[in-house]
Amino acid sequence: MVKEKDELAELPGVGAATAEKLREVGYDNLMSIAVLSPGKLVDAIGSGESTARKIIQAARDKLDMGFETGEDVLKRREKVIKITTGSKAVDELIGGGFETGCISETFGQFGSAKSQIAHVLAVTAQLPLEKGGANGKVVFIDGESTFRPERIIQIAEGMGLDPNKVLKNIKVARAFNSDHQMLLAEKAEEILKKENVKLIIVDSLTAHFRSDFSGRGQLADRQQKLNKHMHTLMKLASSYDVCVYVTNQVMSRPDVFFGDPTAAIGGNIVAHNSQVRIYLRKGKKGTRVAKLVDAPALPDGEAIFNITEKGIEDV
Ligand code: ADP
Ligand code: MG
Repeated sequence: MVKEKDELAELPGVGAATAEKLREVGYDNLMSIAVLSPGKLVDAIGSGESTARKIIQAARDKLDMGFETGEDVLKRREKVIKITTGSKAVDELIGGGFETGCISETFGQFGSAKSQIAHVLAVTAQLPLEKGGANGKVVFIDGESTFRPERIIQIAEGMGLDPNKVLKNIKVARAFNSDHQMLLAEKAEEILKKENVKLIIVDSLTAHFRSDFSGRGQLADRQQKLNKHMHTLMKLASSYDVCVYVTNQVMSRPDVFFGDPTAAIGGNIVAHNSQVRIYLRKGKKGTRVAKLVDAPALPDGEAIFNITEKGIEDV
């Protein structure tokens, strides 16, 4: 972003050349510099340590880091857009829809509707605000080869939208392994800088990590990588006010392990980084049941819905 470029070069002790150097090593905004240790900055730009300290302090001053009033937080909350699922029951369960500015996660067994919800959101995110959409484009990181344009067409037509336009607004990338998936999430920022993306889908968030780090003794590595991946996504969610929707398959009998955070792959890492977690399971007569897990500001509850041609609908 042009504004950020100027901001970096304006820091005392940072000229245009140094700003360029910083960007090359990935420190491309004030926040990334404000949270650096002086040593790291010395390594990055080859300055003396006292200069590095001054630069970091200046970045912190400019950012006005620290506390904000409850009113400020409320104002920020008012900017949040809630993307509809098409099911009133599910929308109500999660406080109005899937929110921008944070990560939401669905987890459940195979066939529980995680990918169906992803496809629905990829369409509804494009609706105008007054129809429960975010009037934005979509980035779909496909980690399980589950993206189906045919399904998008079906849902879009059900909503009276031009399916070709809807498809054009969805940027899909297949992730071939966990490293590739992490890279795609980082690269997504380039799209976000240029286009009005309001939804990022990562379906599945965890499948590649599970298969790439399946050996004994690899758990720590897997969690560390997953943590990094989640942080990338979180940063995108908050910096660009985007809704991030991730899916997470749980294996056998999640009901038995329910409440045990290790039941879902990723465990605590994913749980702590996603603000809304929804457990999905099959209900009676082909229905699906969504249950909110540990939401800070929402009442516990469940919503029952059907997967239909149109997307997902109330029973
Ligand atoms: P997962 O949680 O594994 O991602 P999915 O979201 O792929 O599960 O859900 C798969 C289910 O969605 C299947 O049981 C299938 O019956 C249902 N489904 C998929 N497409 C349609 C459709 N067009 N109409 C009705 N149900 C559908
Ligand atoms: Mg799926």
